Amino acid sequence: MTTNSQKIRFFRKHIPAFACEPGCHDCCGPVTTSSEEMARLPVKTDAEHEEALADLRCPHLGEKGCQVYAERPLICRLFGTTPRLACPNGKHPAVMVNPRIERQIQLFLTETRQVLV
Ligand code: SF4
Ligand code: SF4
Repeated sequence: MTTNSQKIRFFRKHIPAFACEPGCHDCCGPVTTSSEEMARLPVKTDAEHEEALADLRCPHLGEKGCQVYAERPLICRLFGTTPRLACPNGKHPAVMVNPRIERQIQLFLTETRQVLV
């Protein structure tokens, strides 16, 4: 049986990387993630969560961008790699994510309990 951690590792490996607009974080906002991925993120207080949500921002967005880049959730990684989550600034990898992998990720997102980051 494939565990969620194994699936996450597989998906991370198969989502293509690309260079963003320097300093851009236009696609960052409140996002949800699986509890496995959440457990790898630094814990924020309820007050920090509430403050971020009130501003419609992610609690891990700092002045220099994402503060948890290496452990950012799958949805953050997928953004910009598929026409269904296109970057508003026209950035994308040379080769978009494989549609089969994208479908598997979407299925994973619907099948796992998602929590607000
Ligand atoms: S994917 Fe696009 S909108 Fe998101 S941070 Fe990169 S350049 Fe900005
Ligand atoms: S985890 Fe990082 S990349 Fe994802 S929304 Fe938050 S700041 Fe942006």
